[in-house]
Amino acid sequence: MTAPAGGGWETVIGLETHVQLRTASKMFCGCSTAFGAPPNTNVCPVCLGLPGALPAPNERALKLAVRTALALGCTVHPRSVFARKNYFYPDLPKGYQITQYEQPLATDGKLSYLSPDRGVATATIVRLHVEEDAGKSLHDRFPRATAVDLNRAGVPLIEIVTGADFRSPAEARWYLQTLKQVLEYSGVSDCDMEKGSLRVDANVSIRRAGESALGTKAEVKNINSFTYVEKALAAERDRQIAALEAGGTIAQQTMLYDAKENTVRPQRAKEESHDYRYFPEPDLPPLVLPPEWVPEQQAQLPELPATKRERFVAQYALSVQDAAVLTASRGVAEYYEGVVHAGAEPKPAANWVMGEVLADANDHQEQLRVPPGTLAQLIALVQGGTLSHQAAKRVFAELAVRGGGEPRTVAEALGVIQVGDTNVIGQWVDDVLQAHPAEVTRYKSGETKLMAFFVGQVMKASKGKADPKLAPRLLEERLRA
Ligand SMILES: [Zn+2]
Repeated sequence: MTAPAGGGWETVIGLETHVQLRTASKMFCGCSTAFGAPPNTNVCPVCLGLPGALPAPNERALKLAVRTALALGCTVHPRSVFARKNYFYPDLPKGYQITQYEQPLATDGKLSYLSPDRGVATATIVRLHVEEDAGKSLHDRFPRATAVDLNRAGVPLIEIVTGADFRSPAEARWYLQTLKQVLEYSGVSDCDMEKGSLRVDANVSIRRAGESALGTKAEVKNINSFTYVEKALAAERDRQIAALEAGGTIAQQTMLYDAKENTVRPQRAKEESHDYRYFPEPDLPPLVLPPEWVPEQQAQLPELPATKRERFVAQYALSVQDAAVLTASRGVAEYYEGVVHAGAEPKPAANWVMGEVLADANDHQEQLRVPPGTLAQLIALVQGGTLSHQAAKRVFAELAVRGGGEPRTVAEALGVIQVGDTNVIGQWVDDVLQAHPAEVTRYKSGETKLMAFFVGQVMKASKGKADPKLAPRLLEERLRA
């Protein structure tokens, strides 16, 4: 599936990301937002849209929305307006969704990300608004019937809309990954795509390279994993290029991505709704933010990933790539700094975290099983010549299983403490030289590259415990004699 992005076509993509906010209760009622509850158990007259029930905004959700807007550098508007978006769908019991339309909570932000094609690129955040989620249609519960679960109806959402800023499906994916990092760092959402807490719709169009007018765009929906973002957008781009090159046109329509077939297909016309008849929500007054909310939420923001990455490069002399790996999640970044603060040198600490630590976390539900102070001690044993790097890896694996411990004690128990005693290593050296008289003669007649062979034999005789710096020195002394 190579990208036929050549041929003089340019891809233009804009993204709308829906993010579930991390709150205990729903946007306009007190129902729980817990994922995975039995269907239709977290519901009440408000989120079921029963007559006479009145919504009341969730203060926590609004504060998290303000925090997100600040993290994305948006202007937060002191006054915004809730609106009704009217449409019929079985998972929308009220027949409308409460959202924000003409006067959103925040506008004009930006987010920098590392583009695989252009280096550091900046996406514009056109708007960020607050809304409520719809319920879920369940197609696999009963044969030949669709069931509806309304537990999700009314869960707090923010929608983050970018400009048409991305020039490739890969750029869209990198932006999304960066956005996810910012949302996680800020503590506003768990961003779990599997559970639907982060969902993406994309506007895709193509144009001839060098043109400035936008082509007709199609909307791609149903993208529910990071793996699929790039594939879905590439499939839609390829469909548009093929259509135009065959002399056809692009219709402005909604396409659904089918992950199994890796294709996009048009949504059935009757599923589309062109007129939402937005109007201001009559049951809710305009949202007027208490003035102290902005400074309060600003203070809740931690150092964000881009700033942290730059600081790691400057403070610890790491490459941008290494700093990007170490700051991809807040937990890993804090762990790395914990190792350095416990006394490890920044570079070996970075190598350990990017190597053994992340590999182990990857196999164990992202748990960082060896405490940072313990890893710093282990690194010190390697730096001090007590452990070879290979032996230290074994000790690390043992520490991970135990969830900590004393690295030196574990190393002793495993019998991998490096031997630096010249008498002991000298004995291994003598044994090796005695066992290989032919090689000794060849070495003495000038075949000095055999040194590597002798060192290897000494390491083998010592079961890897001989200090790898001392062994060649002692070998040279003996062979010169
Ligand atoms: Zn409710």
